[in-house]
Amino acid sequence: MCPLDRIGQNMQEELRQLERRAKEELRAVKDLAALEQFRIKYLGKKGLLTSFMKRLGSLSPEERPQVGKLANSVKQGLTSLFSETKKKLQEEEESARRSLVDITLPGRRPLRGHLHPITLIATRVCEIFKNMGFRIAKGPDVELDYYNFEALNIPKDHPARDMQDTFYISERVVLRTHTSPIQIRVMESQRPPVAIIAPGKVYRRDSDVSHTPMFHQVEGLLVDRGVSFSDLKGTLISFVHQMFGPETGVRFRPSFFPFTEPSAEVDIRCVICEGKGCRTCSETGWLEILGAGMVDPAVFGFVDYDPEQYSGFAFGMGIERIAMLKYGIDDIQLFYRNDMRFLRQFE
Ligand SMILES: [Zn+2]
Repeated sequence: MCPLDRIGQNMQEELRQLERRAKEELRAVKDLAALEQFRIKYLGKKGLLTSFMKRLGSLSPEERPQVGKLANSVKQGLTSLFSETKKKLQEEEESARRSLVDITLPGRRPLRGHLHPITLIATRVCEIFKNMGFRIAKGPDVELDYYNFEALNIPKDHPARDMQDTFYISERVVLRTHTSPIQIRVMESQRPPVAIIAPGKVYRRDSDVSHTPMFHQVEGLLVDRGVSFSDLKGTLISFVHQMFGPETGVRFRPSFFPFTEPSAEVDIRCVICEGKGCRTCSETGWLEILGAGMVDPAVFGFVDYDPEQYSGFAFGMGIERIAMLKYGIDDIQLFYRNDMRFLRQFE
């Protein structure tokens, strides 16, 4: 036997030992982390078997196929044994995980969501006006002073600016104090006829049982040829009857807004005492629900509508106020406390 033959013999013996040792170690592996260590040690790029394969080049051309064949079959055997062990260990870990869950426990019932009372009322208000031919319009919460005040006939030194405590972002930018700026934006972008209803959040520095710093308004605007105050009355009376019931009493009181002339405040018969007088209505029998009026010709000037040809009316109401009257709620803060006992009543 030539010395090269002995090298081949030795390598075959070495390979069989390697295989025995590997199989023993694999049998002792108890978890996936240990299995990974095994893979790196034997089958990895720098593993024992891989290093062995690299040495095959040193064998004679006669011996190389024989040892190479054996090495390949050892590698295949160990690889498939490794895969089987891995599968077994994965299944064991999965079933251990599952045994931690008691499948006989009753399921957790998912909470069913529903709309917030403010959303319900705003949607209802918009629906009533949509049925009368108004379309929904939107505007930005962060508004230019120009749209919030200036173009609504409320110049810098106008006393009406004191009526509203404003959140200023900068000298020219405010959080809108009412939804009325949407009127201007709509009229700037289209010619009459205009009939829009605009719901949205508004912001004022104010907080007590009847005020929150953020609340909701709905603004309405109708402009066309020959629109009169009686159109305004008819529209709003129809709204009140649909919202609070056909028997609800309505009255218009003269009032003042810089952007309407003439202006009115609209009251409904007290929904609590039906007009007899109570704490909610301050013993008057009436509750104020909205402000309205004929669009001031000065406002038309800002949007280039000819007041000789067109006239219109506008109105605005607080959604929280309507919701409080509709549902008999006496504290506006309840809407924003996220108390489920309160909110569940509106499911
Ligand atoms: Zn009352």
